[in-house]
Amino acid sequence: MTDGRTDGLRKRVFIRTYGCQMNVYDSDRMTDVLRPLGYALVDTPEQADLVVLNTCHIREKASEKVYSELGRLRATKLLRQSAGGDLTIAVAGCVAQAEGAEIVRRQPAVDIVVGPQAYHRLPELLAQVARKAAERRDGGVRRPGAGVLDTEFPAESKFDHLPPPGIVRAGSAFLSIQEGCDKFCTFCVVPYTRGTEYSRPVAAVLQEARTLVAAGALEITLLGQNVNAYHGEASDGATWTLGRLIRSVAEIPGVERIRYMTSHPRDMDDDLVAAHGDVPQLMPYLHLPVQSGSDRVLEAMNRGHNRDLYYRLIDRLRSVRPDLALSSDFIVGFPGESDADFDDTMRLVADVGFASAYTFMYSRRPGTPGAALPDQVPDNVKAARLAALQALIGSQQRAFNESKAGATMPVLFAEAGRKPGQVLGKSPWLQSVYVEGEAALVGRIVDVRVDDAYGLSLSGRVAAGVPFEAAA
Ligand code: SF4
Repeated sequence: MTDGRTDGLRKRVFIRTYGCQMNVYDSDRMTDVLRPLGYALVDTPEQADLVVLNTCHIREKASEKVYSELGRLRATKLLRQSAGGDLTIAVAGCVAQAEGAEIVRRQPAVDIVVGPQAYHRLPELLAQVARKAAERRDGGVRRPGAGVLDTEFPAESKFDHLPPPGIVRAGSAFLSIQEGCDKFCTFCVVPYTRGTEYSRPVAAVLQEARTLVAAGALEITLLGQNVNAYHGEASDGATWTLGRLIRSVAEIPGVERIRYMTSHPRDMDDDLVAAHGDVPQLMPYLHLPVQSGSDRVLEAMNRGHNRDLYYRLIDRLRSVRPDLALSSDFIVGFPGESDADFDDTMRLVADVGFASAYTFMYSRRPGTPGAALPDQVPDNVKAARLAALQALIGSQQRAFNESKAGATMPVLFAEAGRKPGQVLGKSPWLQSVYVEGEAALVGRIVDVRVDDAYGLSLSGRVAAGVPFEAAA
């Protein structure tokens, strides 16, 4: 996707983003860092002078996928060089952090390896690459460059060095308020690739929120690997939790929707639960990963909560916000997971009722304690459990969507739909909603009457009496 701001920009950058919304946010911030250097976003690596792979390490074999992509980019680079040009290749994100110098050893075409905490140093790293290229040219020899590397966890925050955010997509923006994690779930690489928990100061977050609203954001999604562990310092030295921060973001004129992700059941304090009842802009949708319904497995995962805590939390949330829709993450086939453990997960899903969920088969991630555990579950068993879980959640999602048929709800329109004349938006419950309508709907919140509900989406029409209502 281009950023539509190419005026006066002479160089071109293509960023491929893998993984979660934190990475989407980071890619946007890298775009912000590169823009003053003259870089405009382009849609393909072939159009670019600089390609950045913003990688994710959450899945097994993630790094292998990155290496095959790098192989393709190397071919483009060599072709470019044989015609007297060049292509700079950078690897960013969690694979960069986890593999470091190994990336340049395995693929010498890579010029830059930059960890998630060092994006503000991209200009310096690009300058180093340019210096090396000039030295090679002066020496009259075209040798593969030894890439430059920055995968430190610096003492100072990258946020102090990043420029103000420039990207708001169709009325919606991400705002990173927290990074890293101290929880060390035994299946997860985040504490190793993103470091320990860090919360941005309150003033910086609120300033960024105001900047985003001025740039057209109606909806702000507060992001963090463990977002509800937020404990930002206010200017008076007090520590603010996420609930308090949400209340202040809600006071910024123009903020119509607030969401946050990803949260941990252990960090849902009373104030945050209460915010779901008394902050009207906080959307009635919460992604709250539980991972398993078995206490035995939750303990082996080092989740720090049990099934009962999750149930009680859901009850508290629904008592303040009865229309709250829930989403979660589930891992099936964690080492040692028995049929009885899996039955507990199915029971939890049946008891809670989810509007959507992300479901995964456990895969070993090198360097995590889970990878070394005995009793790895065979792949065929994992696959059967995953299919059963997905069938149950799929039926709940459909039922939830069907419960909205006939309702009128505000929809934030995000983009053109796949069919001509169709526009796609998001309901308060984060459902995809399609209507026949004009592109002018994009970036606006408009009431929609829902006519039909499907497994993964809703369709409807702009409500009667609202500007943009389709002609009969
Ligand atoms: S709380 Fe989340 S980010 Fe932290 S280790 Fe567990 S799964 Fe990973």
